[in-house]
Amino acid sequence: MKSYSRKGAKAQRKTSGTEGLNFAPLRFCARSFALTAVVLIAFSAAFAQTKPTHAHASMSPEAKALLEDAIGIVCTQAKLDPKSSVAIDEMQARPSLPLHSPEARAGAERAQRLLPTAKELVITSLRQLTTEYGLQSSRNFNQRLRQAIERVNSVKRVRPDMESRDNASVYLSRPHVITFGTIFLAGLRSDEGMISVLAHELMHIADGDNDNLRALVAAVGNKVSDLTGLDIHGQRGEEVTCDLIGAMAVRAYIVSTPDYESIRRRLARSIQHNCVEVDEGDEDHLSPRNTIRALLALNPVLVRELINDREERKLP
Ligand SMILES: [Zn+2]
Repeated sequence: MKSYSRKGAKAQRKTSGTEGLNFAPLRFCARSFALTAVVLIAFSAAFAQTKPTHAHASMSPEAKALLEDAIGIVCTQAKLDPKSSVAIDEMQARPSLPLHSPEARAGAERAQRLLPTAKELVITSLRQLTTEYGLQSSRNFNQRLRQAIERVNSVKRVRPDMESRDNASVYLSRPHVITFGTIFLAGLRSDEGMISVLAHELMHIADGDNDNLRALVAAVGNKVSDLTGLDIHGQRGEEVTCDLIGAMAVRAYIVSTPDYESIRRRLARSIQHNCVEVDEGDEDHLSPRNTIRALLALNPVLVRELINDREERKLP
């Protein structure tokens, strides 16, 4: 059962932590070579199939080609942009970074400074997504959304942590704090990159310990599974929804803070930490490169803006 595997994953983390529930870190770690191989084979099979189960929602060959072009742009920017986010696999390979190293301190200051902005952007993006997925008229969902917004508003602090390395996580026993590994803090070298990860963690907090936003998470998971042919349900659906909120938050941030840098470069920072060489997922996460694929499939405007290097429309 989808929800069971999610709880199972959470419970597992709870027993291994001392502070409480470790809530879906962003990091990718292959649990075993065998599992990785199985997952990779499954992904290859998913991409090799030409007939998705719901043909009406699948992408046209043209849309798929544009999407692959956009991925190329994101990952080329990762090499050209001096403020690009370091890829997840590269972060994982780095030695631990002391709390007081200049890079970790700069990252912690950036994260704390941007937290209020990220909270506002997450709330706006959540409302926008609620409308996009037709949940705005559900009384039940609206009540859950109000509670989710309260939880987001109550987050106060980013806690830098050397041992968390390349992870960011939320412990449910301390829902006002986002714990951020120092390697991760240093690897997100732009406001855009930092906002995307802050927004991701805030979305986990919004969903809370009872999966309060499960209707939205399931709707996003179903849509992206249809579009890509990948199996994106359960915890994977939540992770993709968190990343989607991250990308939406960054886009809104760019619109509200115009500067001399190109739109393409700034947009790429919202997802480019996934431009890995070693592309491995696990049962809770798509592989990083499939994560980019999923996010761009859900967000055709972002695809076009990356390709055209131009804002398509003002946000409401
Ligand atoms: Zn996550």
